[in-house]
Amino acid sequence: MSGKSVPPAAEAVALPEPLIIPRSEHPISRQHIDREALKVMYRLRDAGHLAYLVGGGVRDLYLGKTPKDFDISTSASPAEIRRIFRNSRVIGRRFRLVQVFFGGGKIVEVSTFRCRTDSDDPADEATVLPANNEFGDPAEDAFRRDLTINALFYEIENYTVIDYTGGVKDLHEGVARLIGDPGRRITHDPVRMMRAIRHAARAGFRIAPETWAAILEHKDKLALCPDSRVRDELFKDLRGGACRAWAELALDSGIFFVIFPFYRPALEGHLEAGRNRELLLNLLAVQDRLVAEGRAVPEEIMLALLLLPLVKAEHDLLAVKSQPQAAALFAVLRQRLEENLARLNIKRCTQDVTARALVTLPLLLAADQGQGGWPKWLTRKSYFQVGLQLFKLYGEASGAQAAEVEFPAAVPAGEARSRSGNGGSRGPAFAPGVKGGVFGFRKH
Ligand code: ATP
Ligand code: MG
Repeated sequence: MSGKSVPPAAEAVALPEPLIIPRSEHPISRQHIDREALKVMYRLRDAGHLAYLVGGGVRDLYLGKTPKDFDISTSASPAEIRRIFRNSRVIGRRFRLVQVFFGGGKIVEVSTFRCRTDSDDPADEATVLPANNEFGDPAEDAFRRDLTINALFYEIENYTVIDYTGGVKDLHEGVARLIGDPGRRITHDPVRMMRAIRHAARAGFRIAPETWAAILEHKDKLALCPDSRVRDELFKDLRGGACRAWAELALDSGIFFVIFPFYRPALEGHLEAGRNRELLLNLLAVQDRLVAEGRAVPEEIMLALLLLPLVKAEHDLLAVKSQPQAAALFAVLRQRLEENLARLNIKRCTQDVTARALVTLPLLLAADQGQGGWPKWLTRKSYFQVGLQLFKLYGEASGAQAAEVEFPAAVPAGEARSRSGNGGSRGPAFAPGVKGGVFGFRKH
């Protein structure tokens, strides 16, 4: 272990003074801040600590949106926070975070200001930080965050917004920009590329040119991240209500093919590629429409929407008209999904239902053209409903009206936590029509 207590580069970097935006010059009102989050801030203040509303909550309030959650950062250590809030617990190994519990399952997350050295400094590589050096001051905490728009603080003494990194200007100009040297920040945590794309897509912002150039240069490094983190970020994107815009940026930057290398042949380098891409974007727009309506889209439907253009590009779905043909395709798809989705840790049973939905779709398309109603044997199958859902959503993506679909009411675990609100005020995104054949299917 190195005996050094402070990395030299951290000492050398002088952090700038923040811009303080007075209450009269920013749109954030206390009324829009969660009551419990305010309570937590006042209690911390009364105990003599600094406490700010931070991160996505400040960003969303500034943009006039309802934040998904209200996170707080403070000068109090996790042990001090625990002492102030009896009904709380510490979570996280690398970064300890205190969850404060309120009635109705409400949780407010409180973190201690972090120092900048969570490995963003080149000197860190060789430096082992002493345990007591993980915490920092507000300036350090701001600079270790990902995007300027995510690094604003809101404080409760004078209700000002504190901006160390230029986030307010970027919010006004509609720019998603990684803080600091984007190449270095990405190298230290490649998931930040996904976060830049997510927040640009969600807010309808453009990505700053240096950030974009760094993403293009370093995109392959995403493959070095633990699969579980990529999966978590990806699912936030798919379920975030702006996955069409997300996919456009992910495709244009090439990040999409780092996450889904097997998808590249369907989307690049031939005449049909443009049509496949358009179908993919239209299917994702349907997913966004469902999310905007507050629907809990089952994972297998979400995956089927995502993978349908690939399956359509690789198989002649129009030739699948009978049960044996569907069974043969099912066997192929199951294997394919297992190979390709293993990294994303998709459960075997979810893969199965996804594959079932995908092979049932052509059977329904064939039956639909015959106008004779659904074949009896098919309606009796356990997977008929999921196939029908995909059929309707595919119809919507191909230009038909918004589809009425019923999903089971179950809310996926983890999303049931009452870190309230759903982030956006986006209207439904309807897909433009796709010409040709039934729902765009064509014989070549
Ligand atoms: P959302 O609305 O999706 O919750 P968010 O910006 O709040 O958006 P979180 O994942 O809740 O996103 O993260 C909270 C904050 O933590 C972010 O706003 C950002 O400041 C910081 N953060 C999250 N991930 C990273 C990262 N990989 N590197 C640096 N800072 C990060
Ligand atoms: Mg958040």
